[in-house]
Amino acid sequence: MNLPLHLEASLCGECKQHRIIVSGKGSQFLLCQLGVSDPTWPKYPPQPVGACRRFQRVDAPKDRAVDSTRSSAADSSSSATVNRDEP
Ligand code: SF4
Repeated sequence: MNLPLHLEASLCGECKQHRIIVSGKGSQFLLCQLGVSDPTWPKYPPQPVGACRRFQRVDAPKDRAVDSTRSSAADSSSSATVNRDEP
């Protein structure tokens, strides 16, 4: 499925952790699968995401996953609060 236009500028679209969820009314949402198993991580990060320390490029092999070069050093894992630059 192609990314909705409002998600194309987001880093999430290039990340293997994303899934597009379509509501019954046809609205599309980006789900971060990390948020399903990790309660400290947002399931629906505010879009667009410009940097993410848990980013894994879709093409990257699992054992060689790379962090985004755009990520910051801040650690948001201890808080459910998110911002636009780091989920
Ligand atoms: S929030 Fe981070 S880990 Fe989750 S889909 Fe977006 S870039 Fe990937």
